[in-house]
Amino acid sequence: MFSSTFFRRLFLPYLLLICLATGVVGFCGARWLRASYLDRTEASLRNEARLVEDLISESLESGDTGKVTEQAHRIAGQVGCRVTIIDDDGTVEADSEGNPDHMDNHRQRPEMVSAATSGEGSSVRTSATIQTALFYFARRAQAGPRTYFVRLSVRLDEMNHRINLLYGAMGISVFLAMAAAGLLCFYFARKHTAPLVELTDLADALAHGQLSRRILSPEPGEMGTLARSLNSMADALGQLIAQTDNDRARLLAILSSMSEGVIATDTQQRVLLVNAAAGALLDFPIVEHNGALCEMVRSEPILRAASEVLSTCESKTFQLGPSHGHYLEVTICTFPAHAKPQGVVIVARDTTQSMRYQELRKEFVANVSHELRTPLTAIKGFAETLREGAMHDPVHGPKFLATIENHVDQLTNLVNDLLELSKLDSLPGLPRSMPVDVGAVVRRAADLLTTAVDKKSQTLNIQVINRLPAVVGNPDYLERAVANLIDNAVKYTPTGGTIQVTARSENGHVTVEVSDNGIGIPKEDLPRIFERFYRVDRSRSREMGGTGLGLSIVKHIAQAHGGAIEVSSTPGSGSSFRFKVPIPGQQVLVSHN
Ligand code: ADP
Repeated sequence: MFSSTFFRRLFLPYLLLICLATGVVGFCGARWLRASYLDRTEASLRNEARLVEDLISESLESGDTGKVTEQAHRIAGQVGCRVTIIDDDGTVEADSEGNPDHMDNHRQRPEMVSAATSGEGSSVRTSATIQTALFYFARRAQAGPRTYFVRLSVRLDEMNHRINLLYGAMGISVFLAMAAAGLLCFYFARKHTAPLVELTDLADALAHGQLSRRILSPEPGEMGTLARSLNSMADALGQLIAQTDNDRARLLAILSSMSEGVIATDTQQRVLLVNAAAGALLDFPIVEHNGALCEMVRSEPILRAASEVLSTCESKTFQLGPSHGHYLEVTICTFPAHAKPQGVVIVARDTTQSMRYQELRKEFVANVSHELRTPLTAIKGFAETLREGAMHDPVHGPKFLATIENHVDQLTNLVNDLLELSKLDSLPGLPRSMPVDVGAVVRRAADLLTTAVDKKSQTLNIQVINRLPAVVGNPDYLERAVANLIDNAVKYTPTGGTIQVTARSENGHVTVEVSDNGIGIPKEDLPRIFERFYRVDRSRSREMGGTGLGLSIVKHIAQAHGGAIEVSSTPGSGSSFRFKVPIPGQQVLVSHN
């Protein structure tokens, strides 16, 4: 409690004031008592001096010194004080306690000087005769023509003793009064200080983040109002901090789930926030305590751009890379928007994939243009030759027309395949999905190719196992995929070859395997034959009316059904393609190529 400044400021001055007041009252009281005691003594000595005057005037007038002395002794014995009779010139005539012959002249004694001038005088001093403090009272008197002085004196030992006792009693009273006042003062000071100390403790605790602290039973009055206000403030502060913590946690959760790298810095380019993606994209480790931007990010263009954005307040977007095979798009802007900047936000986005898509698109457009240009050039050339006269040539005319027809067919195939691919690319799911009997699909596809097979005198064997489970999918697409595989087998197998198509169920899916004993595919080309427009032998493919898109369509269809396409081949011996579609409700292990 004494450690409280407020308590000390309240208690100590009051205690001092009370001590001072009680001390002053005690001291003045003692002085007043002494003075009033002396007054009473003086008054009684005055009366007694008159009495002495009356009693000894006659003896004095008659000059009977012996009687005067005897009367002085008697009166002194009766009134209990020393009686001295002094002549006008200061000679002691008679004294009740000493021999006048041994006494010096009393004319200059203070009480005598006063009595000589004003008729009466008194003084307090130590007697030279009896060596003790006395109260002297002198009175001028007349005995006939003779002027003399009656002087009475009393010892002050008694009075001093009583006054000392009184001082002692007063001292004790003052001490007790001071102690009582001090205790009262302590009690009241504490009573008024305690709530304030409690309030100070609460404010201190709140300032140190102990937001659960409250004042449980606030006092009535202003202190209570203040306590309730502090309690409400602590509630509001708690809610605010919880809200801020929530917001921050949400922000960090959002940042950490972002694929874009985000770094926020202050105006001194000290990092305030950074997410894991930023560390991964810009190649720096994420540490608990962030330092300066330049210590984390090593990319000179980013550091330079951040400084520029801070000084110009104009946001910047630029490309970085390729670095380690990656492209980045970096955007730097100040925050908050439309206000004095408090720092910059750097957002880095990995554009490698989109760059790759762009490249693929460019490549695709170039391929398509090339694929279109070749038959179109041929058609144009033959058409011109026909116009220039070959039309009437009975041998070459029909031959050129047949070639034009071939190229038109090739163009039609190409456009159809392109349309098919774009349809597969743009559709989010599988249209017209239903249970499909794969055996029927295989037979329909084989029927489509019968003419081609017969043309090349090939043998087409179809083997579908009994009770083949149904798959879920689009029957038209599945038929298209199997037909493409059989078509390729026919195309790339010489006349008289054999094509084997089997449909079976294995490992949770239905597999349609199309094998041939044709030209086969070189090992190095195997990984690429499912790419668009990839052909092992471009001219042979074209000769066969191929577009280079058939296997790409097959792969798309397999993937759209949740399945896959696999190939194995030996150049000169033949190829085997396995088209797999999962059986619904069964665990499937499919490897995607
Ligand atoms: P294309 O229209 O040229 O046949 P595909 O995408 O169907 O295009 O096939 C890509 C390439 O794969 C073909 O050009 C061919 O070189 C090769 N290929 C596909 N199937 C076979 C097969 N059964 N035997 C040998 N090579 C094949």
